[in-house]
Amino acid sequence: MASGGPRVLVVGGGIAGLGAAQRLCRHPAAPHLRVLEATAGAGGRIRSERYFGGVVELGAHWIHGPSQGNPVFQLAAEFGLLGEKELSEENQLVETGGHVALPSVSWTSSGTRVSLEVVTEMANLFYGLIDQTREFLNATETPVASVGEFLKKEISQQVANWTEDEDTKKLKLAILNTFFNIECCVSGTHSMDLVALAPFGEYTVLPGLDCTFVGGYQGLTDCILASLPKDSMVFDKPVKTIHWNGSFQEAAFPGETFPVLVECEDGTRLPAHHVIVTVPLGLHMCSVGLLLGSSRSLWRLCRMKKCFCL
Ligand SMILES: Cc1cc2nc3c(=O)[nH]c(=O)nc-3n(C[C@H](O)[C@H](O)[C@H](O)COP(=O)(O)OP(=O)(O)OC[C@H]3O[C@@H](n4cnc5c(N)ncnc54)[C@H](O)[C@@H]3O)c2cc1C
Repeated sequence: MASGGPRVLVVGGGIAGLGAAQRLCRHPAAPHLRVLEATAGAGGRIRSERYFGGVVELGAHWIHGPSQGNPVFQLAAEFGLLGEKELSEENQLVETGGHVALPSVSWTSSGTRVSLEVVTEMANLFYGLIDQTREFLNATETPVASVGEFLKKEISQQVANWTEDEDTKKLKLAILNTFFNIECCVSGTHSMDLVALAPFGEYTVLPGLDCTFVGGYQGLTDCILASLPKDSMVFDKPVKTIHWNGSFQEAAFPGETFPVLVECEDGTRLPAHHVIVTVPLGLHMCSVGLLLGSSRSLWRLCRMKKCFCL
């Protein structure tokens, strides 16, 4: 790694930080790079443990949309972490549209078998409405604020036209409720009322049948980590504040001026030409505020985008 290149700091050693570092290391400009990680290990929310002779994922599990357009898939394939089936063209071409496959058999809580026809009818209704939410992408105004409100409003209009007996209506509503719960899991939220309608359609579903890593997802972050220059990771280095758009000078770099200064919890001050922040926004809104420091436009952008990570 050439030390004369621009000084770049990456905050956070999860897959985003590791991925950014890997890309930068491959760049011909070969920046002087450090990844500052708050904890003693890399990988963030990706962690695989071995129990009872098998792999247990404590964080991420699936590669969603494993096909050529997916950088996680590309890296996993590059490192030889996927099996023949996962790499097959047939697997990569499957179009799920992001909708969960229907169960082959369903039961009510009282043990009655539910007809597949009714489940399919409700699935078509629910996922048809989910697809409709794309119409509001980039809209300046939406009829309601959240995906949950939109779905409930549309469903209540449909229910008014149902002509079946009360028990069948209740059953259909219970099935729809199950689809709501599944969608909450997919979107990583307690309620679809917390998910903004306008940007919901931004989520792009890539082709490919979701797959897992035979040896655990952590194999991927371990491989990326191993591919980085030895001294690029700095562990146990929580970042406290980032001062942007300044003109900073540090005794360790006489005569040099840097636009960004990163302050760590332990008092270390690290000047840089560029800083890439990869800490989760949703979980640490307050700390992200501190990290983004005086960069008001960046902070506002994050709030506006309502970015919430699982
Ligand atoms: C239980 C669970 C299941 C999941 N399942 C899936 C799945 O099946 N498929 C999928 O694609 N995704 C899944 N996800 C989501 C996926 O794990 C995350 O989207 C992804 O790992 C996020 O990576 P990241 O690098 O953006 O953030 P993180 O992994 O959160 O990494 C951020 C890093 O920043 C560090 N950090 C935080 N604050 C500071 C600071 N102030 N200074 C320095 N470092 C700091 C943290 O310690 C961490 O290492 C799941 C997540 C969870 C929790």
